[in-house]
Amino acid sequence: MASQEIEALASALARLPGLGPRSARRAVLWLVKNRERALPQMVEALAAVQDTLVECEICFNVDTRNPCGICADPRRDAKAICVVEDVSDLWALDRARLFQGTYHVLGGKLSALDGVRPEDLTVGELLARVEAGGIDEVVLAMNATLEGQTTAHYLSERLEAFPVKVTQLAHGLPVGGELDYLDEGTLAQALRARRPIHN
Ligand SMILES: [Zn+2]
Repeated sequence: MASQEIEALASALARLPGLGPRSARRAVLWLVKNRERALPQMVEALAAVQDTLVECEICFNVDTRNPCGICADPRRDAKAICVVEDVSDLWALDRARLFQGTYHVLGGKLSALDGVRPEDLTVGELLARVEAGGIDEVVLAMNATLEGQTTAHYLSERLEAFPVKVTQLAHGLPVGGELDYLDEGTLAQALRARRPIHN
């Protein structure tokens, strides 16, 4: 019974990750009920994002400027590149403030199932950055999934051609994780990535 406009909004929201048609409908209903206050705020925030966000031509981060704040920051170590699958991974890693280098966003992961090939990702741009020189280390920070690890393996082979150190995130026990709650894959990774405490 809903109007065409409300249906259009519901189907646009239903495309968001984590929102199915039912949740999208609930969100629309909430927006309609709170239209006086919530709608102008949302319209303004969406317009601001559309107007200001750009993709960084160096690392493919999304920011309000190009090159992005990370690439343009002289305090960052430009000799180290941390390669991630998506912008969300970059943001998560950078929130943790553990890595002082720069990043490279692949834009996804290799997937035979979904037909994602190296040329569909920013692999060529990554290799060009390394080939241009001045890079000491490439950290492969792919997700600990089969496709993530396939992508990391592919990249490590391609990077063999260059005089750079290639490292990979250690996958292991989550903080607070109890051994008997972990799946076998995590346990196996943790065991393989074990390091000496003393000789
Ligand atoms: Zn950048």
